[in-house]
Formats: sequence, structure tokens, C-alpha cells
Amino acid sequence: MPSSKILLITGVSSGFGRALAQEALADGHRVVGTVRSEQAKLDFEALAPGSAFGRILDVTDFDNIDGVVAEIEKTVGPVDVLVNNAGYGHEGVMEESPLSEMRRQFDVNVFGAVAMTKAVLPYMRERRRGHILNITSMGGLITLPGITYYCGSKFALEGISEALGKEVKPLGIAVTAVAPGSFRTDWAGRSMARTPRSIPDYDAVFDPVRKAREEKSGKQLGDPVKAARAMLTAIASDTPPAHLLLGSDALSLVRDKLSAFAAEIDAWETVTRSTDG
Ligand code: NAP
Repeated sequence: MPSSKILLITGVSSGFGRALAQEALADGHRVVGTVRSEQAKLDFEALAPGSAFGRILDVTDFDNIDGVVAEIEKTVGPVDVLVNNAGYGHEGVMEESPLSEMRRQFDVNVFGAVAMTKAVLPYMRERRRGHILNITSMGGLITLPGITYYCGSKFALEGISEALGKEVKPLGIAVTAVAPGSFRTDWAGRSMARTPRSIPDYDAVFDPVRKAREEKSGKQLGDPVKAARAMLTAIASDTPPAHLLLGSDALSLVRDKLSAFAAEIDAWETVTRSTDG
């Protein structure tokens, strides 16, 4: 892959998308960034006139995605790296949260990323090169009460990334699921969809989680610029990982989960083995 690349990043108005775009531009790459308003497009392009190209696209606008990607390939150039970053968190007790919230969560976080990937793959396949990064979450590997739909969507994207990576590796295309811990973006602030409370039985398990998240918003451990630098390291690698954790919180929580998982597998091994034959 050329050392100066074209990155297509969804959701560059704030957070990880914005930080990655800025760091990539600073490294001499060209960046096509999707946004959802004319003003955001102007703001993005002003970052680096001639190198930052804004495109207005909601990733749930499924019928428009192929056309937008075709236009980018034609007028900007070959997309070397697709970063499926656009996404948001739904917070709410599952029994209290309408199915419409789950559909919206999966439309944006899963179907949007898959639709973008399907639009870019024919071009990457033809060139026999490319890298797709899916921004999942530590919530795609570990779980917390109160974000069932979010974890479901990110577990789905983790699984899709890993399986897709096996399909496209022989074609010269790499897929990396990037799982950040808690970072200082707009995720837990303006972007979060919160379902109102209605069932007091869940107060004890859920209320402290919501309160802690609200209090922590803006003060999280992770720096999105450092996450962007880490992603650029993976993008520059000849052997990018299938999974990349970002942040020491993600590291310890995922390690704890893996050892608890291994211990549970061991504890139930006899029952597990009893079904063969
Ligand atoms: P953010 O600052 O809220 O940025 C989210 C970006 O996604 C914004 O540019 C937003 O655009 C865009 N977006 C949301 N829905 C969209 C849609 N339907 N179509 C197109 N663009 C859409 O939060 P962030 O933390 O950087 O989020 C980026 C990704 O990181 C998400 O997938 C999130 O789940 C994931 N993540 C975040 C954390 C964290 O702690 N921050 C941890 C793990 C994973 P608008 O400005 O138009 O709303």
C-alpha cells in the first residue's frame, strides 16, 4: 500500500473520527470524512483544504452509500483505508427500552458499517489491497448492565469483523476491530441515546451505572488523539491485528473476562464433553 494513503472515515465531526482525520492529515494522508450537515462539511474541509474532503452521509442512508463511495473513488481516488467509526451508545435497561431503540442502534453501529464495507470491498478486491478498521468497543468484548443494545451491536461488529477478515485476507485486504475503553469524546454526552426509567425493580443495578457514566463524561482516561496515533500505527503495519484494544481499562477488563471465561469453561468441561458421540 502507498505510504501516503486515502482514508475514508465515517463520522469526522467529533471524537475518534475527528482526531484520526486530523492526525492522518498531519501525516500527509488524504482523508474523506463523512458528516451530517453542510456546516460540518465546511468545518472539516477547512482543516486541510485540498486534502480533507467532506461528504454528507448518514450511514443509515443505505440506498445512498454505494453512490457516495463510487463518487469518492472517481473524484478523490482509490480508498486505501475504510474506518467505520460512526456510531453511538444507547443506554437503558433492556426491559425498559423499546425495540425501536435496538433497531436504531443496530442500524447505525452494525448495518451502517456493513453497508459501507460492502460498498468499498469491490474496489479493494480489484486492487488486491486495502484495510478496513471497525471501531467496536471494549463493550464488544465485555458487558455492563444498562447497555445491552450497545454491547449487542458491538459484539455483532466484532464477530462480523473477525469473520470478514478471514474471507478477505487471501484477497490482500486486512480487517481490524478496534476496541477502545473509555475516551474523552462526545459519546457519553451529546451523542448518547438514553431511555427514561420506568421499572423500579432495576433501580439498584442500573442507577449507579447511569450516574457514574454521567459524572465521568468528559473526564475519561483515554485521549482520542493518542487513540488516533495507535490506529495509524496499525494502518502502517504490514501485519495489522484482527483485534486491537485501546486503553489500560479495556486491557484489564478484557483480560479479566478472558480468565473468568476460561475458568467457567474448565468448571463445566465435563458437561460440555458429555454431548459428543
Ligand atoms: P462522538 O464524539 O459522539 O462521535 C460520533 C461520530 O459518529 C460523530 O461524528 C457523529 O456525527 C457520527 N454519527 C453518529 N451517528 C451517525 C450516523 N447515523 N451516520 C453518520 N454518522 C453518525 O463519539 P466517539 O466516541 O468518537 O464515537 C466514535 C465511535 O467510537 C463510535 O462507534 C463509538 O461507539 C465508539 N466508541 C467510543 C468510546 C468512547 O469511550 N468514546 C469507546 C468505545 C467505542 P454527528 O456529529 O452528526 O452526530
